[in-house]
Amino acid sequence: MRVAVVGAGVIGVTAAVAVKEAFPTFEVTVFAEIFTPHTTGDGSAGLWGPFVLADTDPRKIVEWSLLTHKWMKNFWKSGRAAETGVSLLPCYRLSCKSYTKPEWLSVVYGGCELTEKELKRLSKANKTEYTGGVHFVTFTCEPVKLLPYLMKKLESMNGQFVQRKITDLKQLGEEGFDIVINCTGFGSKELVGDKSVSPVRGQVMRVKGPWLLECTLEEGHHGNYVIPNIDSTVLGGTYQEGDYDCSINPSDTKSIKEGCERIYPSIKKCGIISEWAGLRPGRVQVRLESEIMSSLKKKDLVIIHNYGHGGSGVTLCWGCALNVVEILHQQLKIKNLSKL
Ligand SMILES: Cc1cc2nc3c(=O)[nH]c(=O)nc-3n(C[C@H](O)[C@H](O)[C@H](O)COP(=O)(O)OP(=O)(O)OC[C@H]3O[C@@H](n4cnc5c(N)ncnc54)[C@H](O)[C@@H]3O)c2cc1C
Repeated sequence: MRVAVVGAGVIGVTAAVAVKEAFPTFEVTVFAEIFTPHTTGDGSAGLWGPFVLADTDPRKIVEWSLLTHKWMKNFWKSGRAAETGVSLLPCYRLSCKSYTKPEWLSVVYGGCELTEKELKRLSKANKTEYTGGVHFVTFTCEPVKLLPYLMKKLESMNGQFVQRKITDLKQLGEEGFDIVINCTGFGSKELVGDKSVSPVRGQVMRVKGPWLLECTLEEGHHGNYVIPNIDSTVLGGTYQEGDYDCSINPSDTKSIKEGCERIYPSIKKCGIISEWAGLRPGRVQVRLESEIMSSLKKKDLVIIHNYGHGGSGVTLCWGCALNVVEILHQQLKIKNLSKL
């Protein structure tokens, strides 16, 4: 059985590894235009935390994010934290707008809602007005370290990588592939003509601040966040719907710097390492489902779509990859494709 995974971001590479682990005899090839360290996830801090998921079913968010959390925990506990870029951090997620208790709070360690007293104290300390918030402990899993680790792993299992732009998924059927897994993120807007995919621009800055071992995220009018990584700290951020501009906007730089210094004044002492802007693959909901297409060569070309993870690709990647494997099992059974 020949499987083509299109896309080498955190969604495509995890899907490829999960499929190869589940079906070791299948031939797995990853096609992509862009590889690490230039994918969307590479620019992110890789914090576990559901964000920008529009109308995705909250039960699915909990299911996928829980599986991913356990997967990160395994890396962290088994001595592979440095290689995979996994750290464990205390986090505040604070709301400056209307607040509702997040459904995923049961997934993280020590998740609890903040009391009125704590909110008052934090509002005073951070010079803003919080309406609600939670405190918890969770992982960051940095794609810039995770992706090379997973790619090496896939190669060791005889998986292949091909740098190529795909313009028609059916073409892969003509080339003899039986299954295509579409993990093209924002690229699905063009590749499968999905009009519901839209960019949600995010700009961030990396600074040197090794003492910043606490994460704070503000939701609402500020949208500032501070997320420590292993070699740097990520300061954010912006959330700009429909904005395709990946250049650095100086007024965003100013508001990121001022907002993060308001929360942690010691950031004034941090040197700036780099700045980056990327597009979160926004969609009305994550698309994780199969579709059967026919091409001249393959009457039953199984396509499994896995894209539109918004601001949560890292958070959901492994849970979604396992869901791809589950769909693949179902499809092989329904279509009796294992006999191909
Ligand atoms: C500023 C910012 C901060 C973020 N922070 C976090 C965070 O802390 N935690 C978190 O969980 N998420 C975060 N995210 C979101 C996360 O980065 C994305 O959800 C995730 O990277 C999406 O992964 P992906 O693999 O779907 O897409 P991408 O990483 O964009 O990869 C898409 C892949 O598909 C390929 N491709 C596309 N079209 C084609 C084609 N036609 N032919 C061949 N190849 C194609 C590309 O070349 C690429 O390899 C952040 C995003 C931004 C912008």
